[in-house]
Amino acid sequence: MSPSPVSPMMQQYLDIKAAHQDKLLFYRMGDFYELFFDDAEEAAKLLDITLTARGKLHGEPVKMAGVPFHALEPYLAKLVKLGKSAAICEQTGTVGAGKGPVERKVTRIVTPGTLTDSALLEDKETNRTAAVCLGKKQSALAWVSLQSGEFKAKIIAPDALADELARLGAAEVLAAERDAAAVAPHLGGGHLTRLNDWQFAPETAFKLLTAHFDCQDLRGFGLDANEHGAAVAAAGALLNYVRLTQSQLPAHLDGIALETSDEYIGMDAATRRNLEITATLDGKKAPTLLSVLDRCATHMGSRLLAQWLHHPLRCREKLRARQEAVSVLLHQPEAAAAVRQSLKHTADIERITARIALGSARPRDLSALRESLFALSQIAAPAGSSLLAVLCGCFPRTLPVAEHLHGALLPEPAALLRDGGVMNDGHDAELDRLRDLQNNGDAFLAELAQRERERTGLSTLKVEYNRVHGFYIELSKAQSAAAPADYRRRQTLKNTERYITPELKQFEEQFLSAQDGALAREKQLYAELLAYLHRRLPELQQTARAAAALDVLCAFALQAREHGYTAPEFADYPVLAMQNARHPVVERQVARFTPNDVQLGGKHRLMLLTGPNMGGKSTYMRQAAHIVIMAHTGSFVPAQTAQIGNIDRIFTRIGASDDLAGNRSTFMVEMSETAYILNHATAQSLVLMDEVGRGTSTFDGLAIARAAAEHLLQKNQSLCLFSTHYFELTALPQHFPNAVNMHLSALEQAADIVFLHRVEAGPAAKSYGIAVAKRAGLPARALSGAQKYLKQLEAQAQPSPQHELFAPIPEQDDTAPAAPAPHPVVDELAALNPDELSPRQALDALYRLRRLLG
Ligand code: ADP
Repeated sequence: MSPSPVSPMMQQYLDIKAAHQDKLLFYRMGDFYELFFDDAEEAAKLLDITLTARGKLHGEPVKMAGVPFHALEPYLAKLVKLGKSAAICEQTGTVGAGKGPVERKVTRIVTPGTLTDSALLEDKETNRTAAVCLGKKQSALAWVSLQSGEFKAKIIAPDALADELARLGAAEVLAAERDAAAVAPHLGGGHLTRLNDWQFAPETAFKLLTAHFDCQDLRGFGLDANEHGAAVAAAGALLNYVRLTQSQLPAHLDGIALETSDEYIGMDAATRRNLEITATLDGKKAPTLLSVLDRCATHMGSRLLAQWLHHPLRCREKLRARQEAVSVLLHQPEAAAAVRQSLKHTADIERITARIALGSARPRDLSALRESLFALSQIAAPAGSSLLAVLCGCFPRTLPVAEHLHGALLPEPAALLRDGGVMNDGHDAELDRLRDLQNNGDAFLAELAQRERERTGLSTLKVEYNRVHGFYIELSKAQSAAAPADYRRRQTLKNTERYITPELKQFEEQFLSAQDGALAREKQLYAELLAYLHRRLPELQQTARAAAALDVLCAFALQAREHGYTAPEFADYPVLAMQNARHPVVERQVARFTPNDVQLGGKHRLMLLTGPNMGGKSTYMRQAAHIVIMAHTGSFVPAQTAQIGNIDRIFTRIGASDDLAGNRSTFMVEMSETAYILNHATAQSLVLMDEVGRGTSTFDGLAIARAAAEHLLQKNQSLCLFSTHYFELTALPQHFPNAVNMHLSALEQAADIVFLHRVEAGPAAKSYGIAVAKRAGLPARALSGAQKYLKQLEAQAQPSPQHELFAPIPEQDDTAPAAPAPHPVVDELAALNPDELSPRQALDALYRLRRLLG
């Protein structure tokens, strides 16, 4: 049996699919996008759409599933969230134009990291794609955000990959086949896309980058092909991927920057998670540091704030400029309110600019851009800050663009160009003429009828239109004999004759083509408008960035005013000193927050924190880290005063969590994080250690906690907040003068506990575990059991070997109470010599001793 022939359309499908094996292919057929074969099966499962079959190929039914064309976007959004990529294949030819199937092409590829469609993106999140190049000599990362035009590269240590990807929050990570297995465990939440090894070839990458940036080499961007080979390779592979998915090289990616490792305060993935900067530990968006600080008026401001919080800047000069701007906005509330008012009328022009660069901006994007640019041009920089002057100085440069858009676009353009009604009247003479033709058609016909009646003197003459025959002049049968010679008969009816004249014919042609003509003209004018905006991309990007930064600075000023934040001071030596500091998130959740001081640096490097569970230890430690992060975004901070030294990294070991995906138990996670800190923290690092050693037996745990504390004191010499439930550790300061005991205070009242949340000098007096358990609702029976066992344990308590290890028992203890005087029986017994006693004397002695006992 010969195989059944493949239909031309199926052949076309198979050819296109062959070029997009790794994506779901949405193949446009009329009003549907159809998926076939395995794609259909997968899509049916993922999207919950019906799987059907249509015809056969090689004897097998062809599986098929489809979605209506107008409902494509939500389906794509769902797929992308699941980490899938899709190729959208449109009908690009005219239906019925040729013999075979209508011409079709893949016009768009949607992948998790390269989305640009506003319907598919989270407003307040930056979507990034990263490319990883792991090499023997060097490893590097490049990343791009198509919405903001950010394009950067960095040389990284191979073991820093997970931390870097966590920092960037990359939605998609590209890696060469050869590196994929090594990269896969470090993706964070991103999805891995494997590329052929050759895509990372350094020479190809270099050529593509220099051609795109139109330059000879990349040194102007800080990238040296020899020195930063891996970064060039990663950036090239990434740019090529962008080109493939967008079917173009976006013009707004107009430069690349090499990031250096000391630009920002470093934070590993665990620290970002523990500090709940932009997501809570259970993955929610609030309450987080970002959610409480985000008072931005625009989505681009919110995204920039998230970026600043994840990238605390170390450059003091830039921080001081931001602080100065916040201070000016804080002290000139009216000017600040005016700036915010303009920002409130500003759309997400960063994303609109990206869509202009990619040629996908819709009419309402452009009208929103127009209004936004006008609103921004109203902003006057409040005096006193050079940064505000620079930012606000960008806006007048885009005023001509707003004016151009004002002339070109209707005040309220239609949503889609397809229907026309986008370009303004008076912008283009030809469009005006075509529109006049449509609008003034009735007037022309009435005028023609009047003119012809006067010319012919025929009273029954009418000018009319019907769909089948178009325009015509109609005369009654009786008057038709008198029709002028230039009337050509078009149709004969029972009582009337219908005619056409050259003039009417010409009008008809013009009228019928006016609608198509106007639409075609509008499309052409719109393309010209996009081309004009394309040429203005650099100014537009600059304005968008300036507006976002201004928005964040205004939000900082607002927070400072409403919550009494103050400007932190930066010092050049290692110090962390805060007076009346508060936790920016917790203080918004409790009725009364107790502020506390922090004093680390100079003599004291490690603060040993004790106190009851729920006493506020974690809150106190995290607030120190939050204040450090906030200070390094340029924000004011929740403290009466804050002095912060030059901090290079923040490390945290907080909380207990299993890493089931990574096959690590809670204790293993705890130890890996502790190991990482001990191996990496420097004398300029801030280290938070929360209850190390909790996940194992008491002896092990105490031993590990003590060793970690000593390592931090002696080797790392970091600024460290170290909380512990091991009282034995409070002896540490006796041996290490760099350590200091502090505790969170609590009061016991009527067997209940009152947490004071106040940090005080010295170690905690007791642990209050049972009082806390009572609060938590432990049944009374269990509680009284616990009380009893505690008493027993305390009665049996021996000096523990750990304690001896720490502080050998003093040889002479003057303060110990004197030993009790021996009992008279003992003296009596001591005086006896059994060898000298007769049996009778022995019996007497026994009676005497018994009497002595009473
Ligand atoms: P610990 O780490 O000692 O077990 P936490 O830091 O988790 O305690 O604090 C427990 C709770 O106490 C917090 O959720 C918060 O509601 C409250 N709390 C902590 N610190 C303060 C404070 N300084 N002022 C007011 N409430 C606080």
